[in-house]
Parts: sequence; C-alpha cells; structure tokens
Amino acid sequence: MMYRLSFLLLALLFLFSYESPRAGNKSDPAKLKPFNIDKTVHSITLSNVHVVDIENRKIIENQDIIIEGSLIKEVRPHKPNQVFRTDTIIQGNGSYVIPSICDMHHHMTPSDFDFSGNTPERQIEILEDQLQYGIQAIMNPNISLDATNFILDENRVGASPYLILTGPSIGPNKGWGGHQVSSKEEISNIIEQLHTMGIQVVKFTYDDLSWLGGQMPVLEPELLKYIIETSHGKGMKAIAHVADLSRAKELLRMGLDGLVHGIVSEKVDEEFLSLLKENRAFYIPTTAVYETSFGFQESVRKQFEYNIWEEFPEEFRDSLSNDASRDMWNSWWPKANSLKHGLSNIYWNTKAVYESGNLVMMGSDTGTPGVLPGISAYYELELMENSGLTPYEVLECATVAPLKYLGLYPKQGKIAKGSKANMIVLKKDPTSSVNNINTSWLVLYNGALVSNSRDLVGTH
Ligand SMILES: [Zn+2]
Repeated sequence: MMYRLSFLLLALLFLFSYESPRAGNKSDPAKLKPFNIDKTVHSITLSNVHVVDIENRKIIENQDIIIEGSLIKEVRPHKPNQVFRTDTIIQGNGSYVIPSICDMHHHMTPSDFDFSGNTPERQIEILEDQLQYGIQAIMNPNISLDATNFILDENRVGASPYLILTGPSIGPNKGWGGHQVSSKEEISNIIEQLHTMGIQVVKFTYDDLSWLGGQMPVLEPELLKYIIETSHGKGMKAIAHVADLSRAKELLRMGLDGLVHGIVSEKVDEEFLSLLKENRAFYIPTTAVYETSFGFQESVRKQFEYNIWEEFPEEFRDSLSNDASRDMWNSWWPKANSLKHGLSNIYWNTKAVYESGNLVMMGSDTGTPGVLPGISAYYELELMENSGLTPYEVLECATVAPLKYLGLYPKQGKIAKGSKANMIVLKKDPTSSVNNINTSWLVLYNGALVSNSRDLVGTH
C-alpha cells in the first residue's frame, strides 16, 4: 500500500508541481531530434495546392500561395507555365493546405516517467519543438510560479507557438493542484501574484479522481466560489479541471469560464449545455489523456503511428510502449480498467457540446505520462473525429475556434492574404478524414520553412 501510495504521490508531484530537481547532464532518452527554421528565405511560392477554407467549409482548388516575409501576400488561381519571382518555389502538385493547429491543453513536458526532466529549460525546448508539427498556439494549464517567471522572461523563448500560461493550478491541501490552498487569504495571495505577473487566466481543480479509482480531497464550495469571484474581480478568467457533471454544473453556476477536460462521469444534460452557453465557457475534451488513462499501452502505441517526422528515437518509443511502462501505470491506477466505460461518455459529450453551439477547442493534455508532445495533437484530431464530428468540425476546433477565442483570427488560422504564413501541407485531403494529417510533408511557421519537412522543392 505504501509502495502504491508513494507512486501515486510521485505521479501527483509530476503532474502538479514541477518542482523536481534539475536533470543536469545525464543522457536523456526523450531528447527529441532537433529541427531548424530556415530564416534566410524571404519569399516563397507554394504552387498548385488546394486551400482548405475551414470557416466556410470548402476547398479552393489549384491555387498558388505567395508568401513574403512572415505573411501570405496573395492566394490566386494556379496557371501552368507561370513565372514566379520568389526566392523559393515549392511544387505543391495538388497537395492540401490547412492552417497550423492549436493544442489548448499542453504541459510542455516529455510525457515519460522520468520526472526529473521537467525543468523550465526543458519545457521551453518542448514548446519550441511543437513548431515542427505545425502547432501555432498552446495553452499550458499548470506550471510552478518559478517556472512561469522563468518562461515569461522574453529572452528565454525562441521561435515558438503562441503561449498562454495560467501559472500553477490552484487545488486543495493534499489534493490535485500545483498550488495548494486552504483559506481565502491564500487564494487572494496567489491570484494577486498571478495578476502581477501578467497572467490572465486562473486555473483550479475540483476533482476527487474517482473516475480513475482515486480518492482525493476537493476544495469547499465557498473557496471555489471565492477563486472565481476573485479572478473576475481582477478581470481574469477562471477555468477548471473538473471531470464530473454535477461538480462542473456547480462551478458553471458560480460563473466558470472554461473546462480544460471533457466530462467523463456521465452524459451531459441540457442544463449543462445551457450553463456553458450562458457563461460563454469553453470545453476541451482531452480525449487523448482519457484514452491513455484507461488503456495506457494501446494509446501510446497508437500515438507513435503519428511519429511522421521520426522525431522520437526508437529507445524512447520502446521504453514507453513496453509492458513495464504499462504495468507502472496500472500500479498507479489499478481500478482504471474497470472504469473504462467513462470513455463512451467522453465521446458522446464532445459531440453533444459541439452540436449545442458551444465552444469546443482541441486539447490533448500532452505531457502527462503517455500523452506525447506533438503527436498527441494529431491523435486527438482522430479521436475527435471518432466522437462523430466531421473533419471540418474537428479542424475548426483545432484552428478557427481557439484562434478566435484568443483574438488572433483571421491574422492567424486562415490561408488568405494578410494572414500569417503558418500552415501544414498534406498529400491527402484532411476533409475526407483528419487521419490524413499523417500525410503532412511540409510545415511553414511565420513564412519560414521548418527544416525537417520532407520532399522539398523538385522532389515531391
Ligand atoms: Zn493537464
């Protein structure tokens, strides 16, 4: 029992504090293959591609995309034998182009069991690394105050996706949460600190983890209400980790602004859907973390099918998908298998929330063990399609919806004149199945080629 408990505590330490010791120089099996961004190219023509217009649900066939600097200068019909004056010409040969995507639940951690690797330096590395997957924005819902300060230092982060930080998530003593509180005074203090640091979103937890067989304490309603009111008083949003329907409704009645996980306890009802609407609250399904929680090995193996940039070395792939990792996960959560029916609620609820006209944003909970940075976002797209959403709807949740929410659309998230040249080029049509993200062969970030893109000029 103590053994199991100490594993559980380790897991909690990993997920919610990030105060682990620095990794030093020891070899890191999770070290990802490096990539470069070619900043010397100033103008690019992407010739003869089909542009996916996600908002208007249509494909504009056979276009030339002219990129100058970081922006799309023009999108116009392709004509054979045309002479282009750009520095680089890339033959698209009928490839499909979508805007880069967003992962709105992303911990920027290596997602293995070596928690000592979760240093702020490593998190910045993983953040920057997401560019090669064509990820243009992420939200990190829990990181220590020290790490938040470290990452907010402008000079530390290089080219990277747009980043929204919430700082440490607030939770109860001995419970789920990176910053544990038991009084209003402590809540005021932490929100004040976050506000001073320029954080605009406060995240807190309200989950006993019973859906996974856990028994964790939760904050009293009075304190939950106080978190939401104090955040609103400072003009900040209040969002929650909550997995249970009645608790989620309780928080929404208090004015909650968003749910960073899908509801797993049961199917959502009309009251929940209208509360979401009233609050204009968002809903992030995080199907990938639920799949991994209920079936660790299968889910990890499935994700490695998306290792299309061959970024994860074999040694790392093996260590995370072998039986020892599976057994370790199952020793933490021995009841997980018997609670697996919760998964069908996740799928049902994603579709119900989307169809009710509420805001669904794609997020995978990348960084928890077995939910792998970059590829879990591609996996999440597939799982959202399995929820019954059309490929266009899934792509909307991963591009237009979050970028509108962040106030970045259409400057980002649209393949059109004047928008940032952040895009993914695929061989197959992503609107027939989002699995075709697997056929990505080129990524552009702010108009620059991300160098591990394959089959460049002339060879495609
Ligand atoms: Zn998370």
